[in-house]
Amino acid sequence: MIYLDNAATTRVFECAADAAQKAMLDGFYNPNTTYKLGVSAKSALEKSRRIIADCIGASPDEIVFTSCATESNNWAIENGRKSKKGNVVISAGEHSSVYETAISLKNRGVDVRIAPLTKSGTVDESAFLDLVDENTTLVSCIHVSNETGVINPIKRLAASVKSKSPRALFHCDGVQALLKTSERLDALGVDFYSASAHKLGAPKGIGFLYIRRGVTIAPLMFGGGQEKGLRSGTQNTPYVAAFAAAAERFKQISDHANVDRIRDELVKYFTKSGCKIIGDGENSGYILCVCVPNVKAEILQNIASEHGVIIGKGAACSGSKRGNRVLSAMGVKAEDIEHCIRISLFADTKLEDALQAAHVIMETARQIRSGNVG
Ligand code: PLP
Repeated sequence: MIYLDNAATTRVFECAADAAQKAMLDGFYNPNTTYKLGVSAKSALEKSRRIIADCIGASPDEIVFTSCATESNNWAIENGRKSKKGNVVISAGEHSSVYETAISLKNRGVDVRIAPLTKSGTVDESAFLDLVDENTTLVSCIHVSNETGVINPIKRLAASVKSKSPRALFHCDGVQALLKTSERLDALGVDFYSASAHKLGAPKGIGFLYIRRGVTIAPLMFGGGQEKGLRSGTQNTPYVAAFAAAAERFKQISDHANVDRIRDELVKYFTKSGCKIIGDGENSGYILCVCVPNVKAEILQNIASEHGVIIGKGAACSGSKRGNRVLSAMGVKAEDIEHCIRISLFADTKLEDALQAAHVIMETARQIRSGNVG
């Protein structure tokens, strides 16, 4: 099997599974208790926080663990506004966990402004900045698109937003970017950054919200006061341990230049085969959106999986919904959207596997077109 749906989720690294098991079986104590074993569980938790912070370029005190990036995104958009007054600006390329939260604010009377995308898949920077004014309280822009892999210029955008509206806080959804671009988190100039471990070889159900030192946000959950009182609830110590192990491993084995090379070869292959690549902005390398003419993506995805090649069709979270809001915002025609598959790589994807998968995909497409499937 060749698995190329790593933007949906990834196989857990053995070292991450081992770390989780060890924390479950040996270090299972509640990290918020005061006896020795609890204190050692707490120090293991803090060690993991330090490892993750080091890997991404942040300080440990800026990381608040959550159950997933959906939670982090909901929290930042709901509570990240400094004041209940003022407008919120987001890009049209946001993941639904940002977009739908913003729409829910709008439905409750908040002035929510949505900046368009360019045909290349990046946010239209000047349109975004035009929407920002002195009353802007929060902005949100995705770092790497989960649909196309296109990178938004977050550092530049954050600087421009801050110079136009110094009181506006900047949130960034970094789920598909964390450890997949060479940028350090603390160099981006953002106030909030959401991440999820299961895109990096750790289990599902653990993520964080980075909150830049000095920035305040209303707590997400009240209770025992864990996570500096911001996100009460006993910490998921096994999954935090797995997250730290996976982040270290991912960083160790990833080679951005190699991922870029594989993606370039795939682009060449698919273009030569008559397909269109969606999103030609600067790309993280890990995600490729391909429009395969005259073949419904869902059918292609299902039959390719029977031939041992696993690919995506748009975001997994929006997989059950018709259409694709983000691709539409890029100006991709509805009939083309139906033909778009998403191929996503991992740190250890091999060129020969990727090309073999591409061959299977195009052969499957040929069979579907000729009615010769099954
Ligand atoms: N944001 C982006 C860009 C994503 O790709 C995803 C998941 O695919 C999420 C947020 C949600 O992450 P989680 O599954 O941790 O809730």
